[in-house]
Amino acid sequence: MVKIGVLALQGAVREHVNCLEAPDTEVVVVKKVEQLEEIDGLVLPGGESTTMRRLINLYGFLEPLKEFAAAGKPMFGTCAGAILMAGQIEGQDEGHLAVIDMKVLRNAFGRQRESFETDLHVAGVGEDIRAVFIRAPLILEVGEDVQVLSKYGDEIVAARQGNFLACSFHPELTDDHRFHQYFVQIVEESKQK
Ligand code: GLN
Repeated sequence: MVKIGVLALQGAVREHVNCLEAPDTEVVVVKKVEQLEEIDGLVLPGGESTTMRRLINLYGFLEPLKEFAAAGKPMFGTCAGAILMAGQIEGQDEGHLAVIDMKVLRNAFGRQRESFETDLHVAGVGEDIRAVFIRAPLILEVGEDVQVLSKYGDEIVAARQGNFLACSFHPELTDDHRFHQYFVQIVEESKQK
């Protein structure tokens, strides 16, 4: 049994909870810093990264989240969550949690393509993962310790560095729970160590 939290400051929280719930996974809706102590892994949902950062500061989450990551506990960021995890954000001086050595570009798709769906090959996850993009970021570059898991055309849209997982799209908005299962497996493996 693993316990996985979903950071519930803003964004698509309930959808992630639904995707994670399983007989061997307990899901915790994380609203208070103390709850980080009871979980083995954390999902950072999509929403609006600037709003989320404001709430992270307001509720004193910044250092505790950095410590959670520094302890090697797995994190999975989707869309805005991926932006929170990026070491660098195009046009900004600093990243937020900066736990993955990658540079992201926010709102990377033009107006006509602000939102769209497609099927993607995601390494280790599946050949035909349904991917919903909503004002999504792109991953412009990754460091050498980062594994690219998926590309949309030439653009990187999912990456992993150790126990940290990020994707530009929203796996929580589909009935396909394979990406979440992949994360649960990372959490299980990290707990066994
Ligand atoms: N554009 C949003 C941001 O920059 C992310 C959008 C999303 O999470 N769907 O935070």
